[in-house]
Amino acid sequence: MKQSQLFTKTSKTAPAEEQSTNAKLLLRGGFIHKEVAGAYAFLPLGLRVLNNIIAIIREEMNVLGAQEVLLTSLQNPELWKKTKRWDDSVIDVWFKTTLNNEAELGLANTHEEPIAALMSHHLSSWRDLPVSAYQFQTKFRNELRVRSGLLRSREFIMKDLYSFSRSQEEHEMFYELAKKAYRAIFDRIGIGEQTLLTFASGGSFSKYSHEFQTLCEAGEDTIFVCGKCRVAVNKEIIKEQPTCPQCSSKNLEEKRAIEVGNIFNLGTKFSELLGLKFVDEQGTTHAVVMGSYGIGPGRAMGTAVELFHDEKGIRWPAAIAPFSCHLLAFPGAAPETAATYEKFKDAGISVLYDDREVSPGEKMADADLLGMPWRLIQSEKTGAEKVEMKKRDEKNVETLDITDVIKRLKP
Ligand SMILES: [Zn+2]
Repeated sequence: MKQSQLFTKTSKTAPAEEQSTNAKLLLRGGFIHKEVAGAYAFLPLGLRVLNNIIAIIREEMNVLGAQEVLLTSLQNPELWKKTKRWDDSVIDVWFKTTLNNEAELGLANTHEEPIAALMSHHLSSWRDLPVSAYQFQTKFRNELRVRSGLLRSREFIMKDLYSFSRSQEEHEMFYELAKKAYRAIFDRIGIGEQTLLTFASGGSFSKYSHEFQTLCEAGEDTIFVCGKCRVAVNKEIIKEQPTCPQCSSKNLEEKRAIEVGNIFNLGTKFSELLGLKFVDEQGTTHAVVMGSYGIGPGRAMGTAVELFHDEKGIRWPAAIAPFSCHLLAFPGAAPETAATYEKFKDAGISVLYDDREVSPGEKMADADLLGMPWRLIQSEKTGAEKVEMKKRDEKNVETLDITDVIKRLKP
């Protein structure tokens, strides 16, 4: 893409009210736009990152065999009254609205109730199970405080997956596969090294549920990391047992972290209250065993910025970067760089081409702020056949033939 055609502009300063690094850098780079506190619009560069993350998650969900759906944001209160979760004292982040006839509706903050109710129209026999379904869908949460940019919003897209099994054993097999899928997702996004499996309270159906927590000073959560086996426990668990649930070590160190994913056993709580049942081979009726599994793609994007930035800007992990490289035309090399851009496009390389008539200093500052993994410069010095190539997070600059650069960057 030609940068001269990109409608977003970069800015040297961030809005004074923004406190978080991710919001400051993403706003300065024109990746996002703040509509109101806790609600951000995704602009072309930001949407490319978000869509890269969504594509990775979708691939791993499909590997699990889960089927994609899209449920509604408008929620029927009757379903939530059946599980006693319509009450604001039970779910304190509800956004509710009213119809013209004054009937109440909810704006979805999660989807256990509607998906359990809708599945009761499709699942009835042991032959229909196990199944799982997921979606990328807008959630609304009336959070008290939103100071962390994309790490906590009042409106955000969530990937939520729900599993439906015939027994607790069958559920646990899927739960373990979901855990592996989550590990693969965070590894592929580029935040896997910092992301720890964290034991959390399991509710009434199992001893533990699990969170995926990314170690980061900007995180809103506190976790306790095992020095021996590198799993963690959350605050609830450390009160009950001051030892590691995996290796029993007492060496647990307090750290700040961002919760990037969670997986829960729901047991039969929702299926019993919402009539989701199946008949087994002997003709006996049972409630379906459910699990739920969430990841916020926007939060994962904010987490990547918190982990990978320096004083000049963002350093996107290659798998989620808006473009794999940023090609800058310096004065005197515009026609040559335009030809190079065409060669890159022909080779299938995703490239942001800075063809604007601004100073080299401004172009380099923007390249650092926007954070593509590779910066390429063509100038009078390099001539038509060569470019200066530099990795965003390294100092070393190489001058290479364009054909070699294409070989290296070709997907
Ligand atoms: Zn341990």
